Amino acid sequence: MAENRMWDFVREHPELKTPYYLLDGERLLKNMERIKSVREKSGAKSVLALKCFSTWAVFPLMNQYMDGTTSSSLNEAQLGHEKFGKETHAYSVAWSEEEVREVRKFATKIIFNSVAQLDNFYDIAKGIPVGLRVNPGVSYSHHTLSDPARKYSRLGATDRKEIESVVGKISGVMFHVNCENDDFDAFSKILDAIGEKYGWLLEKLEWVTLGGGIYFTKDGYPLDKFCEKLKVFSEKHSIQVYLEPGESSITRAGYLVTKVLDIVHNEIDVAVVDAAANVHMPDLVTYQEQAKMELPVNGPDATYEYQIAGRTCLAGDIFGTYKFPATLRVGDLIPIADAAGYTIVQKTWFNGVPMPSIVIKRLDGRVEVVRTFNYSEYVSSLS
Ligand SMILES: *Cc1c(COP(=O)(O)O)cnc(C)c1O
Repeated sequence: MAENRMWDFVREHPELKTPYYLLDGERLLKNMERIKSVREKSGAKSVLALKCFSTWAVFPLMNQYMDGTTSSSLNEAQLGHEKFGKETHAYSVAWSEEEVREVRKFATKIIFNSVAQLDNFYDIAKGIPVGLRVNPGVSYSHHTLSDPARKYSRLGATDRKEIESVVGKISGVMFHVNCENDDFDAFSKILDAIGEKYGWLLEKLEWVTLGGGIYFTKDGYPLDKFCEKLKVFSEKHSIQVYLEPGESSITRAGYLVTKVLDIVHNEIDVAVVDAAANVHMPDLVTYQEQAKMELPVNGPDATYEYQIAGRTCLAGDIFGTYKFPATLRVGDLIPIADAAGYTIVQKTWFNGVPMPSIVIKRLDGRVEVVRTFNYSEYVSSLS
């Protein structure tokens, strides 16, 4: 839906109790279509990274466009298997033996993070395709916190001799080295570096997954060049390429709809809303970023500046500072944009703040409240 239409939508639906995460089927579909077109043009399959987004109520839409899921744990793998279906890539930074036994029953691929884990559990895992995560030593990330190839990184094997020792056991390899990479040339260089350094390995394998963190569904991303690059890589090494889009699958498809509860003045105007940045969109606080808002906020007619802050007692529980086209009042609804990824999966009961419900705006226009949370869930999350 067009930018400022979400502001109209929330005002037209006062019956929806805030706070709520709102997923917009139309926006989601746009990403899905781009992902599918990448598959058609390049041959690269895409599996959804569940750690970013696990709202299974929209999986029946997503699994028509994607090839399956990838995971960070047994729980995620099981969710992917049960709710999404298709391919289930099971990866974990470190598996326990019981988990490998369990995941082995339904995973379609199991990926180990180290040669030691692969060797230890190979006898349990074998029979389904086994892969190894490799850290190629090149990466793209705006933050050290999320740089998989940072110094001393535990994420993936690095030693060539060790990798060579398990070549006979694996049919594939995972390189996950990008984070929020919207720069095609940077991606392209990384892929070239991987091809040069690991050509010897790729030629012995059937599949390679290039991980997530590539913003290829973003407006303006050179999709044709991207597809061509993937296709050439796949043909050169005669290998099936996978992508693991998390954020790219759901980017801009979700909102956190909040309501202004109070407006305080301390040199600046601060609107306190009925949600919390650190609790409902924690990456904002972790990475010190400002939440996105859509027009008319910060548009040409917006002159009234407010800091939008959350209701926990954390001083830095702040969504950001924005210009609005009119003064804000208690009761005003504020849809915070781009709130689908790393939000619903990370929300907590910190401060006992009400957990946002989950609302879906389906493609046919139906508005469905698929989940609400109340006091009994708060209590049962504790003991
Ligand atoms: C986090 C992660 C992803 C998804 O990353 P996005 O940035 O959300 O696309 C994919 N694969 C692996 C191995 C990951 O750790």
